[in-house]
Amino acid sequence: MAEILKPDICVIGGGSSGLSVAAAAAAFGVPAVLIERHKMGGDCLNAGCVPSKALLAAGRRAALMRSAEAFGVTASSIDIDFGKVHGHVQRVIAAIAPTDSAERFAGLGVRVIKGHAKFKDRRTVIVGGDYEIRARRFVIATGSVPALPPIPGIDEGPYLTNETVFDLTERPDRLIVIGAGPIGLEMAQALRRLGSDVTVLEAATPLANDDPECAAIVLDQLEREGVIIRSGVKVLRVKHASSSVAVTFEAASGEETVEGRYLLVATGRKPTTGGLDLDAAGVKYDGSGILVNKRLKTANRRVYAIGDAAAGQLQFTHAANYHAGLVIRNALFRLPVKVNNDVIPRVTYTEPELAQTGLTEAQARARKFTPRILRWPYHDNDRAQAERETHGHIKVITTAKGRILGASIVGVQAGELIAIWTLAIAQELNIRTLTGIVLPYPTLAEIGKRAAIEYFTPRLTGPWVRRIIAWLRIFG
Ligand SMILES: Cc1cc2nc3c(=O)[nH]c(=O)nc-3n(C[C@H](O)[C@H](O)[C@H](O)COP(=O)(O)OP(=O)(O)OC[C@H]3O[C@@H](n4cnc5c(N)ncnc54)[C@H](O)[C@@H]3O)c2cc1C
Repeated sequence: MAEILKPDICVIGGGSSGLSVAAAAAAFGVPAVLIERHKMGGDCLNAGCVPSKALLAAGRRAALMRSAEAFGVTASSIDIDFGKVHGHVQRVIAAIAPTDSAERFAGLGVRVIKGHAKFKDRRTVIVGGDYEIRARRFVIATGSVPALPPIPGIDEGPYLTNETVFDLTERPDRLIVIGAGPIGLEMAQALRRLGSDVTVLEAATPLANDDPECAAIVLDQLEREGVIIRSGVKVLRVKHASSSVAVTFEAASGEETVEGRYLLVATGRKPTTGGLDLDAAGVKYDGSGILVNKRLKTANRRVYAIGDAAAGQLQFTHAANYHAGLVIRNALFRLPVKVNNDVIPRVTYTEPELAQTGLTEAQARARKFTPRILRWPYHDNDRAQAERETHGHIKVITTAKGRILGASIVGVQAGELIAIWTLAIAQELNIRTLTGIVLPYPTLAEIGKRAAIEYFTPRLTGPWVRRIIAWLRIFG
């Protein structure tokens, strides 16, 4: 007979979003049940953010060694042992895993159940025949899986996705990547730096959601490192052989075929909606995920959907954490909340990194702003010169009156530098605030301040104003 549980909150999925809800509920002393069918930590820990950043870090070490000569440091040879790279990636996962573990959550007071959850009716979730959970609120946090494009032949042989690429103990020589979004390009650069020959095929524009000027700098760097990027090509078919794979695509010049040893599919993510019996719960969904309103509530008012599983939301770990915070405020404290995707930054962790917060220039124009564009290049920054990391720039978007709408940064540490701009946008700060801030010298953060000072440049009308600008530029 099934054990009947009656918690305040029942969370389905122990990934970034589900764990955040469960941890917050526990912190407030609210009885919570968390159901996970596979690995605690979900995609981010086991097959996403963590292993991808660890692999990129290994590639970066190799790249630093290759470029050390400019600093007067010579590495006599670089030997890459891919088995040890795999070991490094797995050790990083293992180091973080205890934070997401069932034991830790049980210690926090969460009832953790291992198994597959599905709805029995609008108010009940079941896990096999073992548990029946009648909670006051349910949170669907089932994440997403790699989307496989409908390319003839693709599934007639082996192919890699983020779920398998980090298990490789041998270097994937002659790698073909389908998809030039953040995941495809991060993997392409990491593996190229670790010695693979990499060709990336993209049907549309690489990094299409980002500022094109910034994206171009990333693509240029990848190509200089030897990654072959073919964009605007339509993949027609895939042919697997015993130890090779051939991908035929249509380019502007006609049909071409590229041959490789491994194929990595990185063509987006599909929300996990299957197997939950959502119809029994009266929860509506379609191919884009579980349909939610601005409060992340589904068609069943007792049920929320968050993270990658929720339709129309950004698929990032920090977005998942943000959703969890909104659900907790709404479900436990009955506060009116509204999801706002404009305050969620994003970073592509290639080198150079590409970070975006708020609106891009194109988005600002589409929303009928007449934006002011402020820029500052890395090569005019003393720290960037010292580090020989002068490739990149910041681009800040403001209104005519100086309200900060967005910032795009491409360059080393862009993911760290974007934080202050995210705060500025969330707090609706004026660009003037950023000109008055005292920053340590020499730091890359000064790039942002110099861009802010540029806001005053076109107003160089009188001698006093010119003096103030000059003063800001020298002492600012
Ligand atoms: C290669 C890669 C790199 C990435 N890098 C970054 C990055 O650098 N930064 C960033 O912010 N984001 C990154 N992401 C995205 C990030 O991993 C996801 O946005 C995040 O994991 C979403 O969290 P989630 O909780 O919604 O889903 P998941 O983490 O996918 O968790 C969902 C969990 O639900 C479980 N589940 C599903 N159905 C059921 C069921 N019926 N019963 C019980 N359990 C169930 C699954 O087993 C899974 O553990 C990356 C993703 C990939 C693939």
